[in-house]
Amino acid sequence: MTTTPDRSTDGDSVDLDETATIARDLIRFDTTNYGGGRSNGEADAADYVAEKLRALGLTPQLFESEPGRVSVVARVEGADRAKPGLVVHGHLDVVPADPANWSVDPFEGVVRDGLLWGRGAVDMKNMDAMMLASLGDILRSGERPARDLVIGFFADEEAGGVLGSHHLVTEHPELFDGATEAISEVGGYSTFIDGRRSYLLQTGEKALIWVKLIARGTAGHGSQMIEANAVTRLAEAVATLGRREWPITLTDTTASLLREVARILDVDVEQVSPDELVLRTGTARGFIRGSLRTTTNPTMLTAGYKHNVVPDTAEALVDIRCMPGQEAAVLAEVQDLVGDDIEIVTMHTDIGLETPFSGPLVEAIERTLHRHDPGAPVLPYLLSGGTDNKALSLLGIAGYGFAPLRLDEGMDFPAMFHGVDERVPLDALSFGSRVLRDLLATY
Ligand SMILES: [Zn+2]
Repeated sequence: MTTTPDRSTDGDSVDLDETATIARDLIRFDTTNYGGGRSNGEADAADYVAEKLRALGLTPQLFESEPGRVSVVARVEGADRAKPGLVVHGHLDVVPADPANWSVDPFEGVVRDGLLWGRGAVDMKNMDAMMLASLGDILRSGERPARDLVIGFFADEEAGGVLGSHHLVTEHPELFDGATEAISEVGGYSTFIDGRRSYLLQTGEKALIWVKLIARGTAGHGSQMIEANAVTRLAEAVATLGRREWPITLTDTTASLLREVARILDVDVEQVSPDELVLRTGTARGFIRGSLRTTTNPTMLTAGYKHNVVPDTAEALVDIRCMPGQEAAVLAEVQDLVGDDIEIVTMHTDIGLETPFSGPLVEAIERTLHRHDPGAPVLPYLLSGGTDNKALSLLGIAGYGFAPLRLDEGMDFPAMFHGVDERVPLDALSFGSRVLRDLLATY
């Protein structure tokens, strides 16, 4: 792939390949999504990727769900049009970054010490760039992808995709006609298990339930005896859910992950507890621990308006993540735990997913990874968070997390999702583009 000298960052003169150049350019668009409908918008970044697609002879379509909230979709004709299509998608928005906490300007696209720094370097302008560079390499060589591709750059993923993937799936489902599978983010990166570099393929996502707890009580003077204090009631409910250690609940994905980890560690999966096994999965353990059980994390509190007034209501927001299909049971148990005095209002839900760790796409991914990193184990995992694959699943599209990155042992990549000092090694970016190029050209 082409290499262009970059002399604009940090005084360093670094030769950036096409993937790194595009990733850096995308980081320089501040596409912060603040949630609650507040956002800087994706329009400029969308124009940039659309221009890149046009330069490859494609005809991207732009969809503006609300002013400035732009998604881009392009179809690429495959060599064998009889094969079902593959959606390859990324999102253009990023979560907020407070420059005060960062070592570099999060929107400058600094290249330093062989790494590209900036908000989105990990989540997920890296993969956006890998998509464009790998596709470009295929098309400029006069080749075609093996099957039809639907290339999507979506808006609003960081706020649940309402104005991005969900908008497209609802309003323009024909864009995805003939596609049965998808690949995207939060999978494909490597972690070290017992010194062995291993790749995690994301084959599922937990369900999410965002609830509001409402405690009611007696309003009154802050100097009086008040048994029915809404703040106290709410605090008890919040502490109960926040401290709750939910039992381990394995799904097909997590059971198969634990078996594979045990095999690599050469231990008996029946003899070692799931938590112990997960603690030995290197930097990925942060992601994987959350996939073994339900979590109920209180995230926001609202109550009161004056220091000497007991309010009659108090509210808390709780972020619940559970296994696909267990939403109703978990909600019932949450109500049990907090008691009937607490009203639970469901604010937002999204489905969980689980796709098989088998079949032609999974085999092609393994084969391709092994061409570039021979012998490295590929393991399935369940993501504790969510991606735009949830929206695509509504059209029957089976989504996987596969943004391939070969990382060194010291790099705590999962910790950088939404974290400070997001950065990605330049050689991991070029590795990812080569793997993706190979996969798209052959699958
Ligand atoms: Zn993301």
